Amino acid sequence: MARIEFQNLAHAYRPKPATLDDYALQPMSMVWEDGGAYALLGPSGCGKTTLLNIVSGLVKPSEGKVLFDGRDVTALGARERNIAQVFQFPVIYDTMTVFDNLAFPLRNRRMPAAEVKKRVHEVAEILDMTRDLPHKASNLAADAKQKISLGRGLVRQDVAAILFDEPLTVIDPAMKWMLRRQLKKIHQQLKLTLIYVTHDQVEALTFADEVVVMTNGRVVQKGGADALFLRPDHAFVGYFIGSPGMNLCPIELDADGARIGSQRLTLGAATLAALGDAHQQAKSPLTLGIRPEFVRLAHEGEAGAVKVEVLRAQQLGNYQLVTAQCDGHLFNAKLEPHVRVVNGPAWLRVAAPETVFFCNDERIDARNAEGATQ
Ligand code: ATP
Repeated sequence: MARIEFQNLAHAYRPKPATLDDYALQPMSMVWEDGGAYALLGPSGCGKTTLLNIVSGLVKPSEGKVLFDGRDVTALGARERNIAQVFQFPVIYDTMTVFDNLAFPLRNRRMPAAEVKKRVHEVAEILDMTRDLPHKASNLAADAKQKISLGRGLVRQDVAAILFDEPLTVIDPAMKWMLRRQLKKIHQQLKLTLIYVTHDQVEALTFADEVVVMTNGRVVQKGGADALFLRPDHAFVGYFIGSPGMNLCPIELDADGARIGSQRLTLGAATLAALGDAHQQAKSPLTLGIRPEFVRLAHEGEAGAVKVEVLRAQQLGNYQLVTAQCDGHLFNAKLEPHVRVVNGPAWLRVAAPETVFFCNDERIDARNAEGATQ
């Protein structure tokens, strides 16, 4: 397995890109550690497949270099890079047995028959397909066929990396969960360098050690579940991760402190100073971000709280989702199911230890445990 490095890499499908918007992948430098399990997460069209194809060699980047263990492979094709790739839909030979399908990549590399047999059985066992080995692949259901595709990706141990492009799309939900767990286990056992493309945050967070979040051709954060949840580097990460995502609300500063619309918001002196500095430097809008999990009901006039109009409270089993409006801005709060909430005026604490602030959508290091309100 390899350590993969992008050096000043960028890709534009159109010639002579003039602005950042012309790039499918904006300029970046990044390292994928040897043996790391990464997920590429982002909405449709954000550049995930382009990035994956640049790793595999299917797309040559228009700028910059790709290094495998320090060796420049930018000009090499997929085969020379020794990459295994698993696509959205099964790529298998219907007329062959499951055994022969799994053995194919190994026989292609002239591995001795006894070793092929051993390795195929190991992978079949991991995927719970041992019983299927003698059967023709054509007789299997779509998800079993996709398991064979996964197996063909996993069977070779000499590859630089294994790339998965939304491999569980055709798998039914119950099986998806099981396969995700299995992939994670396989990764822990074999320490493969895995890059897994998905637009499903649960899939990304279950599978990967580090999730690479992309939007508009740009990597906005690379990190573990905690960092993405608690310290999103970019407002997009706040919005995209979580269900519902982070509350994002514009705030303004004046001589007396901070406001949400016409509502005064009491913040600590250090927080106000950091917000003021960031705004001064970037001359860009400020945004408050708080996850629905950390919003709570407050007393009138409490520091960090604002007056809201509760619009609705939906009981959703182990929590209730309360939606409230503050000067035209909506806030969601996940509250304990037994907390009594009525539609109408209330106070919500939105500046809490967990609150983060963004300037021009980039996180400012303004908040800390007591920082927001004291
Ligand atoms: P999806 O989840 O829908 O597959 P994605 O995140 O994988 O999307 P890409 O397929 O990498 O995104 O596309 C990134 C951008 O590049 C999009 O604007 C897309 O239209 C454009 N693009 C992708 N492939 C080509 C191509 N061969 N020629 C021109 N533009 C392309």
